[in-house]
Amino acid sequence: MLPSAPLPPLRMSAPALTGRIDSAITLSTVARLVASGTAVSKADLAPAAGLARTTVSTAVDELLARGVLRQDGTRPTAGRGRPADRLALAPRGGHVLLADVGARGAHLAVVDLSQQILAHAHVDVDVTAGPDAALATIESRLTELRAKAPDGVPARAVVIGLPGPVDGHLGIPVRPPIMPGWHAYPVSVRLQQTFDCPVVLENDVNLRALGEARALPADQVPLLFVKVGTGIGGGLVTSEGVLHHGADGAAGDIGHVRVRGAPDDACVCGNVGCIEAVASAAAVARKLGSASATGSITGSIAELRGLLGRGDATAVGLVREAAGLIGELVATLVHFYNPARVTLGGSLTAASDELLAGVRSVVYQRALPLATRNLVLTNSVLGEYAGLAGAIVLGIERVLSAESIDTLTAGR
Ligand SMILES: [Zn+2]
Repeated sequence: MLPSAPLPPLRMSAPALTGRIDSAITLSTVARLVASGTAVSKADLAPAAGLARTTVSTAVDELLARGVLRQDGTRPTAGRGRPADRLALAPRGGHVLLADVGARGAHLAVVDLSQQILAHAHVDVDVTAGPDAALATIESRLTELRAKAPDGVPARAVVIGLPGPVDGHLGIPVRPPIMPGWHAYPVSVRLQQTFDCPVVLENDVNLRALGEARALPADQVPLLFVKVGTGIGGGLVTSEGVLHHGADGAAGDIGHVRVRGAPDDACVCGNVGCIEAVASAAAVARKLGSASATGSITGSIAELRGLLGRGDATAVGLVREAAGLIGELVATLVHFYNPARVTLGGSLTAASDELLAGVRSVVYQRALPLATRNLVLTNSVLGEYAGLAGAIVLGIERVLSAESIDTLTAGR
């Protein structure tokens, strides 16, 4: 039976590219295809971009003239044709400055548009000291790193990852539990003024998720990244290979959900029994400290890692307990997202395989076969550099985006 009132008009989805394709979009598409390595000659670019050969040829010539692309030798063609010019991103097209900031330290780097890391440092940054002190350290150390990179190449973008929820549109952290004083601080505006270029602000686990996904074959998405360190966080890369932020940027912020069987431990967020309060590396280290009969163990993450490395029975037991709780959470998320891959990262995974083994056993036991049939559940392949990799992706994509590419002229 038909409904008595007519249905409202319903929206149909439409491809993103409709109507007139303007030159900035063409330039951006061609540059990004070359940057991705999927098409590196004019002949390959036309079918890959879905554009006419003459359109592609004009765009390539313009990008070569602007110093965004360069010729990088030749590649053989099928049949008897002469070898085609091979294209690559020009190292002097611009630099991207990166800061992957964790709770206790930051990876800082300068890269060029061809993904070469020109300078890198791991520096002590204490986010609990507040935004002014932490950002001043990051700015001065990034400036030092820039001095080590080739001269006369402009900074085209800054990418910064922070260990808390962020609003990427406004460029501010939003009530980050472990970062006192950072709520609504204008991080992006400050760095934009310091380095005179656009700034991308992202959550640190999202950066890791994206870096991991883009380092793996394209069929490893959707990818869910679960970081177990000082806190617990998640990041999701969609089947299109991009980050899922949710309506307000809070997607993947899984540290403050509660799972079955969790004890009533108090959490920094004000609730009790959050997964972060009962199963993070910090929580396990704290329990290890209280379990120590002699009081010789203070309960730091470094101690926990040391004991795990030596196979200490109490430490291993506590990690297995934490893994059981994290496994419950991951099993729920696997049902909801049906990821191709779940990646575990953070300080606990680097120290031993106990966490991975424990999470795997719960997930494969609890999740239904359709969701786990092809699921890969493993430790991060990039380890502590996953965040830097994600920042490189976001930075170069930002520089080569349709809105930025028109401003690109080498050396300007
Ligand atoms: Zn909490």
